[in-house]
Amino acid sequence: MAQENLIIVGSGPAGYTAAIYASRANLRPLLIEGYQSGGLLMLTSDVENFPGFPEGIEGPELMSHFRKQAERFGTSFIQKDATKVDLKGDVKKVFVGNEVYEARTVILSTGAATKWMGIESESKFLGKGVSSCATCDGAFFRDAELVVVGGGDSAMEEANFLTRFAKHVTIVHRRDTLRASKIMQDRAKNNPKISFIWDTGVDEVLGNESGVTGVRLQNLKTKETSEFKCEGVFVAIGHEPNTGFLKGHVDLDEKGYIVLPHRPTTRTNVPGVFAAGDVQDVIYRQAVTAAASGCQAAIDAERYLETLGH
Ligand code: NAP
Repeated sequence: MAQENLIIVGSGPAGYTAAIYASRANLRPLLIEGYQSGGLLMLTSDVENFPGFPEGIEGPELMSHFRKQAERFGTSFIQKDATKVDLKGDVKKVFVGNEVYEARTVILSTGAATKWMGIESESKFLGKGVSSCATCDGAFFRDAELVVVGGGDSAMEEANFLTRFAKHVTIVHRRDTLRASKIMQDRAKNNPKISFIWDTGVDEVLGNESGVTGVRLQNLKTKETSEFKCEGVFVAIGHEPNTGFLKGHVDLDEKGYIVLPHRPTTRTNVPGVFAAGDVQDVIYRQAVTAAASGCQAAIDAERYLETLGH
């Protein structure tokens, strides 16, 4: 079996940037992109804060630029999910189902996935009125009454985007203060099609065989419950790192994020294994910071290979 110099696992801004840098350094990296290549930006509409695009750019278009740039310098791609790793020793193994790929260095950049409320009715109505992606599903809700759950930038962005289609959007947030940035808050608060319900959680998603008909809400201060009629529920309460398959192979923190004990380098606790992007970032979680850490990881991997006499 051919041994690679570098395998990059995960293809958001971090993975693609690592691939651009590593391929320009002639390392011919293998990028395991995953079935859902491109990461969370594939679910984002307008990206207005990625430097170099003064008019903004659609998330999927930005990711296709990243990918083309990595391809141009000689990255190879596998459009499947990595399922298992064995990172011990000098030769690292990354499994994709029954296939195994070997390399001397690995960059983990598997990003994060949507966090769900965790109530049974939420999964029951997933795809039948419950969604986590306004960009993907918003157009199905023309003139609808919608609920967005969450108080961060994602919730504000989803709500604003949904007003393109919906009759009205109600943001349900568990506290009385938003976590979102000022500009995103203002945009939502100034949108006449958006209103807020504060200090409230979604207890249950209500519906029938044709889909969602409402939500049962609970005021978390008074404990009072009420029913709210709506045809769609968009859950935007954050993300969780995609590290299930890495447990026991690399140090993770209590929330499952990869620990980098040698910051500012991207080295993990396992020699030859590096991490970049949302999978190791609990604080910034931006496309541009993910891309930057992908660059750092590629440089760290290159230097590590040099120490091996590459
Ligand atoms: P986030 O900032 O972690 O916010 C999650 C929100 O959901 C918080 O308001 C949180 O409430 C609430 N929440 C969490 N768990 C909940 C639960 N189980 N039930 C009900 N509510 C729950 O996540 P995010 O909004 O996805 O943003 C993630 C990162 O991406 C941030 O750094 C953000 O700036 C960035 N982002 C930027 C843009 C943009 O600039 N265009 C767009 C999207 C995301 P509490 O406030 O009470 O904790």
